[in-house]
Amino acid sequence: SIPKQAGIIRKLSERTINRIAAGEVVERPASAIKELVENAIDAEATQIDIVMRDGGKELIQITDNGRGMSPEELILAVERHATSKLSDENLVEIHSLGFRGEALASIGAVARLSIKSKARDSKSSAWQIVVEGGQRVEPEPAALTEGTVIEVRDLFYAVPARLKFLKTARTEYGQAADIIKRLAMAHPTIAFTLGDGNRTTFRATPVGALGGDVRLERLGTILGRQFQENAFEVDAEREGLKLKGFAGLPTYSRGNGMQQYLFVNGRPVKDKLLTGAVRGAYRDYLARDRHPVLALFLDVPTDFVDVNVHPAKSEVRFREPGLVRGLIVSSLRHGLQAMGHRASTTVAG
Ligand code: ADP
Ligand code: MG
Repeated sequence: SIPKQAGIIRKLSERTINRIAAGEVVERPASAIKELVENAIDAEATQIDIVMRDGGKELIQITDNGRGMSPEELILAVERHATSKLSDENLVEIHSLGFRGEALASIGAVARLSIKSKARDSKSSAWQIVVEGGQRVEPEPAALTEGTVIEVRDLFYAVPARLKFLKTARTEYGQAADIIKRLAMAHPTIAFTLGDGNRTTFRATPVGALGGDVRLERLGTILGRQFQENAFEVDAEREGLKLKGFAGLPTYSRGNGMQQYLFVNGRPVKDKLLTGAVRGAYRDYLARDRHPVLALFLDVPTDFVDVNVHPAKSEVRFREPGLVRGLIVSSLRHGLQAMGHRASTTVAG
C-alpha cells in the first residue's frame, strides 16, 4: 500500500527552494566569483579587485567602481529572480552577462553575504545589506564613496553537505584564477587584481593607452609575451558569424588543452563543439597529445545561440552548429597555412 506521507504534496519554503537552486548556480568559490565579477562588469566597472582567503572558503571579496545600487535596489538584488537585465518579454535578446537574477539570492542562501554599495549619480550615501543563510537584515547606511563591495563569508556554511565537496584552498584558488583570467581576456579594458588581502597574485593592468591591439596586449599580459610572439591573428566572418582572436603556432603547443580560451558573445565557454573544431583544425599540424594555445572570440546574433542551457552558463547551444564548426576550422587552417608558407619562404629565401 502507498505510505501515508506519499499523498501529501507540500510547497517548499522559499528558503529551501533557494538552497536547492543555489547548488546549481554556485558550485564552488570559483562559480561565486564568476557571478560576482560578471555583475561588476555588467555594472560598467573599470576596476575590479578580488580577494580570496583560504581558497574563497573563508572570504571572497569583490570591489568594483561600477554604477552601484540604491538601498531599494539592494533589497531587490538579493531576491530570487529579481534582475535589472532582462524583461519578461525578451528572453532572446541577452546582452548582459547575468540575466537570471539568481546569483545573489543563491549566495545569500548558502553563505554570509554582505553588500555595500553607493548608487552613482545619486545624492544619497552608501548602504549595506546583509543576508545570512537566506535570512535578510534591514539595510543600513554604510561608508563607501563609489561602486560596490561584496563580501561572501563561510560559503556553504548553511549546506554542510556541499562543504565536503570543496577541494584544497590551492585547487579552489586555481579554479577561480582561471575564470578571472578568462573574464579579463574578454574585457581587455577593465583592470583586474586577484589576491589574498596581503599580496596580489594576478594583475591585469588597463590596456589601450599605447594605441596597439588592445586584445593582443591583454592576451600578452595573461598568456605571456612568448604567446604574443608565437601566435597568428584570426579575423574571419561568415553569414553573420564573426571569429576573432589569436592562435598559437603548432611549435608553441602544450601537453593539455588548459590554455584554450573560447568565448561566445563575450562569455567564456567550455563547449565540446568548439574544442572539437579547434582539434580538427590543428589535426594535421600537431601530434595527438599536443594542444594549441589560443583565445578565440566568436560573436553571433543573439538569436543564433542559446546561453540558457545551464545555470552556470558555460555551455551554449547553436542554431547551426555546422556553420560554427566550419568557420573555426577553415579560419584556423587558413592561418596555419599562411604561417607555414611564410616560414618556408623565409627558409628558402
Ligand atoms: P543577474 O545578474 O542575473 O541580474 P544577480 O543576482 O547576479 O542577477 O544580481 C541581481 C541584480 O543586482 C542585478 O540585476 C543588478 O541590478 C544588481 N547588481 C548585482 N551586482 C551588482 C554590482 N556589482 N553593481 C551594481 N549592481 C549590481
Ligand atoms: Mg549576475
